[in-house]
Amino acid sequence: MADQDTVRVRFAPSPTGLLHIGGLRTALYNYLFARKHGGRFVLRIEDTDRSRFVEEAEADILESLAWAGLDYDEGPGKGGPHAPYHQSERKEVYDRYARALLEAGRAYYAFDTPEEIERMRKERATPENPSPKYDAVTRVHMTNSLTLPAEEVRRRLAGGEPHVVRLKVDPGETVTFHDLIRGEVTFATGEIDDQVLVKSDGMPTYHLANVVDDHLMRITHVIRGEEWLPSTPKHVLMYRALGWEPPEMAHLPLILSPAGGKLSKRNADKMGIPVSVRQYREEGYEPEALINFLAFLGWNPGDEREIFRLPELVEAFSIERVGSSGVQFNLDKLRWYNEQYLRMMTPDELIVKVRPYLEKEGITTDEAYLRRVVGLMRERISFAKDLATAARYFFEDPTTYDPKGVKKRWKADAADLVAAYADRLEALERFDEASVEAALRALAEEKGVGAGRIIHPVRLALSGVTFGPSLFAMMETLGKETCLRRLRRAVEVLGKPE
Ligand code: GLU
Repeated sequence: MADQDTVRVRFAPSPTGLLHIGGLRTALYNYLFARKHGGRFVLRIEDTDRSRFVEEAEADILESLAWAGLDYDEGPGKGGPHAPYHQSERKEVYDRYARALLEAGRAYYAFDTPEEIERMRKERATPENPSPKYDAVTRVHMTNSLTLPAEEVRRRLAGGEPHVVRLKVDPGETVTFHDLIRGEVTFATGEIDDQVLVKSDGMPTYHLANVVDDHLMRITHVIRGEEWLPSTPKHVLMYRALGWEPPEMAHLPLILSPAGGKLSKRNADKMGIPVSVRQYREEGYEPEALINFLAFLGWNPGDEREIFRLPELVEAFSIERVGSSGVQFNLDKLRWYNEQYLRMMTPDELIVKVRPYLEKEGITTDEAYLRRVVGLMRERISFAKDLATAARYFFEDPTTYDPKGVKKRWKADAADLVAAYADRLEALERFDEASVEAALRALAEEKGVGAGRIIHPVRLALSGVTFGPSLFAMMETLGKETCLRRLRRAVEVLGKPE
């Protein structure tokens, strides 16, 4: 394959905060597309907007991609034939193309202050057009190199007067481009503003830097979120003005809140949905689960399969199977994925995951015991950390008993029954699942009560809660000594309710 035929895609985040979950989806789709086609996946940091720059953001982006397993071929820390990959280090490059656009008459200087633009908006507002744009209609009333005499423009520039460079969008035309997900998309140029390309601080805006870099870095496919769709006609106009072929475009569907509307930070917070990748990491989601879940946020394989690890996604992915309508974010589904991935782990893998959480909780335990607990609990946990929190009773005697459970399950005869059961257990030679069960059923029979009458208070006494794995299997794992100690202590603490 000749170089120019090689698929090249990029993930181009702006370091303005923690990497958003939607950003990770964009990175994933680019990654999958690149790997699927044997292409290159480029990471480019779009950091020209100094007012929104956040120092830690880039480290967070790199960490999040590494955690998720999305390795890139060119970019910060890796280098590559188109370095540097930080836009803030490429200012001269953008200057060159801004000049080219100015010289070709496709861009112009504008000297208006923000206040003057604001005034124009107020004065020219009509009911049909409440917030007029800086465009072919209004630019004639403004202070720019299209309205001022050439001499005056030169004087102002030479005097260092603050100015921006704007794209000159001619009205009365249409811009049509093909989107790999949406098909043909058409915009009327009358609806597009004269976009600022170079700001008064001399830095390029996203639009200029993005187009120049996508071209120079030989990007073949731009895959990004739908929120960038309105920017695309501006970009197409710039490609045309510079005499360049635009890359293929693919705009991914919006991620919607379960309550409807876009999943903004605000409405995600309200629904308890984490928005940054870091939060998912900290809450203990498995990266494979999050990746699998995100892959399905806009794409599906066309059949019933749901479990795909990264290499399987690469195999199955196609941009044609990405939908165009918004997709609802479903945290329950993500938890389901997390559970599936925990169940697919070998006990050893799960133990490796659980260890740090146990350490954090100050729990020490030996390997053999931990292995048994993991075996008993793996089907019942949503997160690896649950073993150190919700299932803490495997490692430490309960210090409290769920009050609701006590009310419901610890009846007037509970203390007597539990004490009698403890005595029976003490006499047992073998302390395995079958023996402790037989002992309990025999006791129930003798006392003329249903087995549940003993099972429920015993569970409460052993774990402090009313749910968990099979009681008898749990008892075998806890061992005789621990069971006796806990049962007797509960009898003492809970005694006979009034
Ligand atoms: N820097 C833009 C962002 O933060 C990139 C958009 C694009 O992919 O063109 O998402």
